[in-house]
Amino acid sequence: MAKRDYYDILGVKRNSSQEEIKKAYKKLAFEYHPDRNPGNPTAEERFKDINEAYQVLSNPDKRAQYDSFGHISGEGFFSDVDFSRNFNDLFGNLFDEVFNVGRRRRPERGMDLKYNLELTFEEAAFGVEKEIIVPKRVICSGCGGGGAAPGGEVVCVMCAGRGEVRYSEGFFAISRTCSSCGGAGRVIKISCHRCRGERLITSEQTIKVKVPPGVSEGARLRIRGEGEAGYLGGPSGDLYVEIYVKEHPFFKREGKDIFCEVPVGFVQAALGAEIEIPTLEGKTTIRIPPGTQPGQSFRLKGKGVASLNGKGKGDLYIRVQVEVPVKLNLKQKQLLEEFARSGEGDENPTVKKFFEKFRELFG
Ligand SMILES: [Zn+2]
Ligand SMILES: [Zn+2]
Repeated sequence: MAKRDYYDILGVKRNSSQEEIKKAYKKLAFEYHPDRNPGNPTAEERFKDINEAYQVLSNPDKRAQYDSFGHISGEGFFSDVDFSRNFNDLFGNLFDEVFNVGRRRRPERGMDLKYNLELTFEEAAFGVEKEIIVPKRVICSGCGGGGAAPGGEVVCVMCAGRGEVRYSEGFFAISRTCSSCGGAGRVIKISCHRCRGERLITSEQTIKVKVPPGVSEGARLRIRGEGEAGYLGGPSGDLYVEIYVKEHPFFKREGKDIFCEVPVGFVQAALGAEIEIPTLEGKTTIRIPPGTQPGQSFRLKGKGVASLNGKGKGDLYIRVQVEVPVKLNLKQKQLLEEFARSGEGDENPTVKKFFEKFRELFG
């Protein structure tokens, strides 16, 4: 296959100025750069051609030679540059310099961590201080995060400590991040024995968590800086503590309010009674009036959970479940039969009303 003309590849005229060639190159290189066309072999091929053409036309000597003799062989103009092997390295870095996307090893922020913390109902209600153990990456204490054994770090020979290597190529003086030291200017000759040069080690850390009163299931507490350590001096991530609340045998919670069902006998409900009930602070008694109905609720103000913003407390609702006797002895049966005969029907107004309507309709 005949090689395409370099001027055609860049879309410039034979008499174009260096400035025009540079401009055309920059535009095309940006358009066909492999980073912008991942997995597109045509673009990759174009990018190689564009670079090869620019290598020649941007150099006055090589351009003059090309103008006089054209392509020297079918294999390309240069024998000293293997484009297929080098272009990613060479032009990848050139591209990075042109468009400011350096590949320098930068400090990185540590990862955020999540911890699931289970609390009792009371702990969530009143708040609690907990110590949790979190395995996480921390800065190695052996090397202070430098990664080297004592005296094991030396100035990088390749870049003489500058962290970058400069050379002229094409229209730029290209500066590349030193591949030997990754831009640090220093290299580790003897790694820290503790972290093996990783700079960070995994260790179990004990962390104090202050849970405020009134947290509820699913709440997330953020503890700044208690995530994983940053890399190369980057900031630490955060630790998120997600709250799970264990079920309580008596209480259900909705926001700041607590609900509790308390069974009472039908005699207590009918006559009224003092009944014992549980609260968050322990047991207490309340008085239910005569004629208390099944499902009736009694509110105990301020006996709920503290609100998270510290303003006020919720209430405790005691819901009465009236239990009808399931087993009666003979004496009790007789008493109840006597009870039924003794009334006028006014003791059960809902029942009375229903049957009045019933008789109206059905006779
Ligand atoms: Zn270390
Ligand atoms: Zn270096």
